[in-house]
Amino acid sequence: MNRSTRPSRSAGTTAKRGHRPAGQSPRARPATRPAAPKLLSPDSLAWAMLVASSCVTDVVAFGRSLTVVLAELRQRDLPPDAVRSQAIDLAYATLRRYCRGDVELSLLLDRPTAEDELRSLLRVALCWLEMHPDKAHVGVDQAVEAAATLSGGRYRGFVNAILRRALRERAALDKAIASDAEAAWQHPQWWLNRLQKDWPDKWQAIADGGNRKPPMGLRINPLAITPKAYVEALAAEGIALQPPVAEDGPEALLLAQPRPADALPGFKQGQVVIQDIGAQQAARLLDVQPGMRVLDACAAPGGKSLHLLQSAAVDLTAIEVDPERCAALRRALESAALPSDRSVQVICADAADTTSTAASWAKRPFDAILLDAPCSGSGVAGRHPDAKWLRREDDVYALARTQKRLLKALWPLLKPGGRLLYGTCSVFVQENDAQVETFLAQTPDAQQLTRVHLLPDARHDGFFFALLCKVLV
Ligand code: SAM
Repeated sequence: MNRSTRPSRSAGTTAKRGHRPAGQSPRARPATRPAAPKLLSPDSLAWAMLVASSCVTDVVAFGRSLTVVLAELRQRDLPPDAVRSQAIDLAYATLRRYCRGDVELSLLLDRPTAEDELRSLLRVALCWLEMHPDKAHVGVDQAVEAAATLSGGRYRGFVNAILRRALRERAALDKAIASDAEAAWQHPQWWLNRLQKDWPDKWQAIADGGNRKPPMGLRINPLAITPKAYVEALAAEGIALQPPVAEDGPEALLLAQPRPADALPGFKQGQVVIQDIGAQQAARLLDVQPGMRVLDACAAPGGKSLHLLQSAAVDLTAIEVDPERCAALRRALESAALPSDRSVQVICADAADTTSTAASWAKRPFDAILLDAPCSGSGVAGRHPDAKWLRREDDVYALARTQKRLLKALWPLLKPGGRLLYGTCSVFVQENDAQVETFLAQTPDAQQLTRVHLLPDARHDGFFFALLCKVLV
């Protein structure tokens, strides 16, 4: 929608829409976090709301990655597990509601509040009220309890008044949301513009896909158990599956309801890994064979490296540029208990730097290359909703340049007859079709074998894959 049609009470509040204006760096997070909530009972929704709002503040006000914020939260000994998982769910749900809370607050607040924690708590509480309309009084009561722990309790009455007003004025709030494209579709305007241009008939479904809680896909490890035996093990635990789809492959399963990994039979023994069904298509398309020398050029956290290694007895080189992510990748692959007929070498390096003397991994050609390129993540917004708040359109241009550089540098490393799979978890044409078409036009010995668009839906995240073959010219 056009900003000018926003109700007049929102005047002057657009700067508080939550996302940083382009070009502005994130502020540093103050060292002091909200105090341990002595007033709250250990299993209370109020505590979960408070923890969720701290995560939301980290993302929205301080520009931090939700993955990093949640990793820190999981390492802390507080809050208790039940509160933590409720808080994580609430943080995700609140961030998925991109801009809705801002439109609601622009109507509910006479003046924009400068207090990040208070604003986040209100966003979280409004999200909870939307999710649980039948338990509104519980949500208001618990948000007020949470507010009692902020700023010496001076916002208790204020939070109570705002949330009660939100309940009374629901129809007006819904109308304001419906007339604001960013709030209605829960995505930034620049992102919606791209979806509309790239997918004129499907952009609504893609946006809906990015607003949904993602499905939980599993991949059976064929080295450890057969699909039939694993499905029986799930049934014995009463764990229901979605109906299988033949094209997903025999090892792909979709849980009817997400559940903690530890509750899955054989998870600790490596019989199954959690991997989105769309992500599983990368190794299936590359279809590596025993004895192949394979490169995974952008490998962390390693889901696809592991899939390649569990598919065939290959010699895998896994490259990752980020040292911390590389360390995590190394740990993940070392703990995978792989048979001795396959080998893996993990290297921290820029995969586009193939010509320097240090790049000894690039001196011998590969039979198969997976380039799971760094991308905007616009196909996985449901799983990583912080991207809606943190990404800028400029990032897409910068990422497209990196993708191009990687493709160009890695192609010479492929043997004649070898296959390179270019993939992203983006739905933007600039990172996908346009990238591949430019590359094909400029590379005479590259031929496309197949191109796959997986749009995010109730079964999988959004992915793009192009399988290329090196031909003799
Ligand atoms: N393939 C991984 C998996 O399935 O678990 C996901 C890869 S993720 C989409 C892209 C990764 O590429 C990130 O970990 C990022 O740090 C890394 N990366 C970005 N630029 C790179 C470069 N120039 N060389 C190597 N890795 C790079």
